[in-house]
Amino acid sequence: MTAPLAASTSASAFLADLRAALPDLRVVTDPADTEAYRWDETEYMQPGRPLGVAFPTSTSDVSAILRAASEHGTSVVPRGAGTGLSGGAIAVEGALTLVMTRMNRVLEISEADQLVVTQPGVINADLGKAVLERGLFYPPDPASFETCSIGGNLAENSGGLRCVKYGVTRDWVNGLEVVLADGSVIRTGGRTVKDVMGYDLTQLFVGSEGTLGVITEATLRLLPTPAPKLTMLAFFKTVVDAGAAAAGMMRSGLVPVTLELMDQFTMRAVDAALHVGLDPDAGAMLMIESDAGGAAAEAELDAATLASEAAGALSVVRSSDPAEADWLREARRKAHWSLEQAGVARMEDVGVPRSRAPELLAAIERISTAHQLKVGVFGHAGDGNYHPTFVMDRDDPEAARRIDAVRADIFTAVLALGGTISGEHGTGVAKRGYLVRQRGERYVGVMRSVKQALDPLGILNPGKVFPEA
Ligand SMILES: Cc1cc2nc3c(=O)[nH]c(=O)nc-3n(C[C@H](O)[C@H](O)[C@H](O)COP(=O)(O)OP(=O)(O)OC[C@H]3O[C@@H](n4cnc5c(N)ncnc54)[C@H](O)[C@@H]3O)c2cc1C
Repeated sequence: MTAPLAASTSASAFLADLRAALPDLRVVTDPADTEAYRWDETEYMQPGRPLGVAFPTSTSDVSAILRAASEHGTSVVPRGAGTGLSGGAIAVEGALTLVMTRMNRVLEISEADQLVVTQPGVINADLGKAVLERGLFYPPDPASFETCSIGGNLAENSGGLRCVKYGVTRDWVNGLEVVLADGSVIRTGGRTVKDVMGYDLTQLFVGSEGTLGVITEATLRLLPTPAPKLTMLAFFKTVVDAGAAAAGMMRSGLVPVTLELMDQFTMRAVDAALHVGLDPDAGAMLMIESDAGGAAAEAELDAATLASEAAGALSVVRSSDPAEADWLREARRKAHWSLEQAGVARMEDVGVPRSRAPELLAAIERISTAHQLKVGVFGHAGDGNYHPTFVMDRDDPEAARRIDAVRADIFTAVLALGGTISGEHGTGVAKRGYLVRQRGERYVGVMRSVKQALDPLGILNPGKVFPEA
């Protein structure tokens, strides 16, 4: 347990003002109560000690909190469900953590406009269920969909297992309500299909990782519910063969709803944890799904079978049972968790153009072997977005240093392939040291100008995204 933060005069004055302005707001300051809100899923990072944790229930709460924070120069860390994998929501020393999970109401579902209006604290899976009951479909589904919040999805521009066909979170956002650092509230976008009035600030806030404003409401696009999925697995001798098959499918114009990869190390970890019955001798597998419906879905999987065989697939199996397909999907979603059962598992999140994926997979294998590190590779093969995950003994004192060395080499390889150091998990704290290298000084300078315009005091999520000064 960490020692209580010595309350500075300004911290106590801020808390006193906050309590006076919002007497019903739940704010906790005892380290025993704030501890759980210091961390996200990047357990290898050291968070700071927050001055307190607040749980707003309305936009006006958030507005009053940020107004008081601006007046006192107090930093604020917006936080959803804390499932982030880049350290975006970890506590900052002396800052207020703003937990958005009590703003968890779906406000409106419109069949006529095919839109849902929601508060940010709604869990992704709950939103999906709510719209499904009305025959509608919200496509973005991170593997963490049962635990992550819509606010976190928006702030990270999260991807997931259906991006090949449906794109990422930003593709489903029509409008936002955002509280700015000074407490003022703006609404971006709206309910219309088309809207080109002024700059597109909606898309500026999506992916801004809590550094430009706090999202308090979102208007999201929906589709009619698609047909039930057909699912197939293809097993390969090597991970590079599997990557080549995935690249071949995309080159041939296939657009499956899901095209996921797991290498042998990951498959064995998943099987050890969940007893799914995956082929333990295969070097890698692809999971391919179609929601095209009926004969079109069969045809899509036929084409995926041909592409798999052309890349040397060892075997291809189709699931005829929806319950079995659900279980296989769940097994893929549990890849990271399964690897965690084997030791300290640190997940990376790199992306390359789809055609370069086989080269990326070969490079990850080569670099991990050179560093003598165990790596499990899985991810969104249809997007060229992979999660090499390093697994080390919990008692290895050198774990962090060795992982830093191997990831640096992998990032170099990714950039040489025209890729990105983060495909969907965000920059946060974990990747900020690489921002200038990938984007360049001028680009980061423009980002700083935007930040300065919206948050001149720098109180929103300091120490995240931007490189250390
Ligand atoms: C097992 C596992 C699987 C995962 N799979 C995927 C995956 O397939 N695809 C993927 O993209 N990610 C994945 N993730 C990462 C993570 O779940 C996503 O980044 C998710 O969107 C984070 O949501 P959250 O509510 O937990 O946000 P948090 O972790 O609480 O916060 C994330 C960021 O959002 C900001 N934020 C949160 N709420 C708001 C708000 N209302 N306004 C402004 N800023 C806000 C925070 O400041 C922080 O910077 C996975 C994580 C785990 C643990």
